[in-house]
Amino acid sequence: MTGRTECAVIGAGPAGLAAAMTVAESGVDVTVIDSAPEPGGQIYKAVGRSPLPDTSALGPDYALGRKLVAAFQESGIRHIGATDVWMITDDRKIALLRNDQASFLQAERIIIATGAQERPVPFEGWTLPGVMNAGAGQILVKSSGVVPSEGVVLAGLGPLVLLVAWQYIRLGVEVRAVLDLTPAANYLRAAPHLPAALLAGNYLAKGLRMQWDLRRARVPIHTGVRLIRALGTDAIEAVEFVTWGRTRRIETPVLMTHFGVIPETAMTRAVGIRHDWDASQQCWRPKADIWGNTEINGVLVAGDARGIFGAKSAEWSGRLAGLEVARSLGRLSREERDAKGAPTQKAMTRDHRVRPFLERLYAVPDHWWKDVPDAAAVCRCEEVTAGDVRAAMRAGAVGPNQVKAFTRAGMGPCQGRQCGATVASMAAQETGRPIGEIDLPRSRFPLKPIDLGTLAALELPAAELSGEASADQAPGMDVGGSKPQRALLEDAE
Ligand SMILES: Cc1cc2nc3c(=O)[nH]c(=O)nc-3n(C[C@H](O)[C@H](O)[C@H](O)COP(=O)(O)OP(=O)(O)OC[C@H]3O[C@@H](n4cnc5c(N)ncnc54)[C@H](O)[C@@H]3O)c2cc1C
Repeated sequence: MTGRTECAVIGAGPAGLAAAMTVAESGVDVTVIDSAPEPGGQIYKAVGRSPLPDTSALGPDYALGRKLVAAFQESGIRHIGATDVWMITDDRKIALLRNDQASFLQAERIIIATGAQERPVPFEGWTLPGVMNAGAGQILVKSSGVVPSEGVVLAGLGPLVLLVAWQYIRLGVEVRAVLDLTPAANYLRAAPHLPAALLAGNYLAKGLRMQWDLRRARVPIHTGVRLIRALGTDAIEAVEFVTWGRTRRIETPVLMTHFGVIPETAMTRAVGIRHDWDASQQCWRPKADIWGNTEINGVLVAGDARGIFGAKSAEWSGRLAGLEVARSLGRLSREERDAKGAPTQKAMTRDHRVRPFLERLYAVPDHWWKDVPDAAAVCRCEEVTAGDVRAAMRAGAVGPNQVKAFTRAGMGPCQGRQCGATVASMAAQETGRPIGEIDLPRSRFPLKPIDLGTLAALELPAAELSGEASADQAPGMDVGGSKPQRALLEDAE
């Protein structure tokens, strides 16, 4: 079955919702698709139907999402929830998978707003049951009201470590410790950017307030932490770490870690958009102009998927992409787009002032990739260890795509989502080359596992059945990047 829409928005987080509502304001027919059943994205997950009796424990930022989600729901915009996008063809057919049934949606414009993922950093014991990402812990609270019942230790660096610990104490969870892995040198590198960060809003005040509340609740906060190890046989029993030269151990049934977030680029890579390494954010970002236009005609990108700037900026970049879609479909003139977008661009510029400070404070030091023990799994799907990756490099592999051929790292169900960036960082360390020169891990459709029965049951559009479509538009084929229709970017960032 093939549906049609003028503009498809992939992702119902702050970026996707703002983009969709902006596009709809100009009378454009818009459809929003998301893997999650309800709109909200990561930060506002399940905000409209929280299982918690009182969501105030999650903090004021979560409550802000209620207004955004309600406005979207009242707008009457078509929302296809609980549906994965697994492929996009060169002529902008979007392949959907819902309840094991595949279908196509033909779109004139596509806004990719697929958000971010937590940066995977392997360490000893990170695959033991009871060890998980802090973001995953937060998803359990927001969508199911599930919290660790016998205590938790949080470890890592970045605002989410503090936020999750703070949310847990407000929900009555025993937080046994917070292990702050921020290297001391990062404070010195971040300090010159502090004045600009203070002008960006109340971000730093919020962080200090959380630290204060944690200390008042007598949660031990260990600073200068290095070399964490999760210990246990069938499940985690304790976490061991080094702090200011001393080795310490804390018994815990749950360890949650977080090492910052990076754009979710599986889709933008597979569709053929070029990506640049952002040394400050330590991640690849799709090449796009301020309006979200990419080099692929009719495909735009918004929110954390194009770079990590937080929820507010995600919403604003969604709005800019929405205005651009309305312009490109002839519903707004260039002058109208510019006039409507000017206040949003101004707000974004102000909001971005905090980023240089945060990016330096929470930078992952290069030597961490050297510290990954040989026995630690790097590719969890194919059980490829750091030792295997290093052996592949000694045998001649120079980046993630060769390591994949040598070891199968990245060939499992997650298609390298978890190990691609780690292997690239390890390759940079092992070869001594800047990571920007290491080739980007290749991403291919289908992005989600799809079984052959589902593919066989897929009704193809008439043109494809009659053989008019090119081979690289056939479902299941690698169309991304094969013949990208490159467009000139108006004002690339
Ligand atoms: C796990 C996690 C937790 C976070 N928690 C917080 C927090 O508490 N506070 C905070 O300030 N920031 C948080 N962040 C950062 C936050 O995600 C962003 O600031 C903000 O949500 C970005 O908005 P967005 O619209 O760009 O993306 P998101 O809100 O991430 O929305 C992207 C949406 O795209 C959908 N999607 C992705 N791929 C597909 C696909 N193939 N098919 C269909 N749908 C797809 C996802 O289901 C998701 O709903 C978190 C980030 C992560 C990764």
